[in-house]
Amino acid sequence: MRLAIISDIHANLEALNAVLDDISRQRIDETVCLGDIVGYGANPNECAVLAKKHCVLTILGNHDAAALGILSTQNFNIPARIAIEWTSEQLDETTKTFLKNLPLKETRHDISFVHATPYEPDMWHYISSLEEAAYNFQFFKSDFCFIGHTHTPLIIVVNAEKELYIHQAPGLDYRAMPGARFLVNVGSVGQPRDRDAKACYGILDAEEKSFVCRRVRYEVEKTQTKMKKIQMPEFLIARLSEGR
Ligand code: ZN
Repeated sequence: MRLAIISDIHANLEALNAVLDDISRQRIDETVCLGDIVGYGANPNECAVLAKKHCVLTILGNHDAAALGILSTQNFNIPARIAIEWTSEQLDETTKTFLKNLPLKETRHDISFVHATPYEPDMWHYISSLEEAAYNFQFFKSDFCFIGHTHTPLIIVVNAEKELYIHQAPGLDYRAMPGARFLVNVGSVGQPRDRDAKACYGILDAEEKSFVCRRVRYEVEKTQTKMKKIQMPEFLIARLSEGR
């Protein structure tokens, strides 16, 4: 079983199409989306249609919840709030119904999927230290848990000796040792923030217990032109060129 895991599309249709095209060439059995389909970009409804069509499972993200009006934007920064206001007005009934029914956390094929953290998925915490990661390992039973939310790809491993470490390798290539468990952030399709502007997603080979992060070029300028047209804040447009 080979799974593609995508996250944080953020209404970036060009990035999503490029990623789906790449997935179609990778012998993938199933695709899972970890949420934040909307917010920031110009094509929220189009991205929701594609997520629904291509993903066997989609998880709710905080921007999806905010666009639906079920999460307050008081903890969002100003550009994010402006984007959510615009997005809320654009969502059609089909998208609203789709987003409203998404789960916060799900297990499939004995693999856990959540947007923010396994600990409190509805509190939208960020895992930004090894201590926070260590704490979160108690809140999933599977060997693998996939998350998004920070837009930065990362693998945190607990080995059979219960040692915790960050796995670093070009492309985050990883093959699990027996007895290891891991927490993987698959990065972001539509707004990468790890200084690489290319769209990012992950592939898990469940039998091999191996994971790889893929980077995909897309037409960034086309996305930016659309965002200018709908008057998205300049900061949100500029960051896509640099992946920051
Ligand atoms: Zn996000």
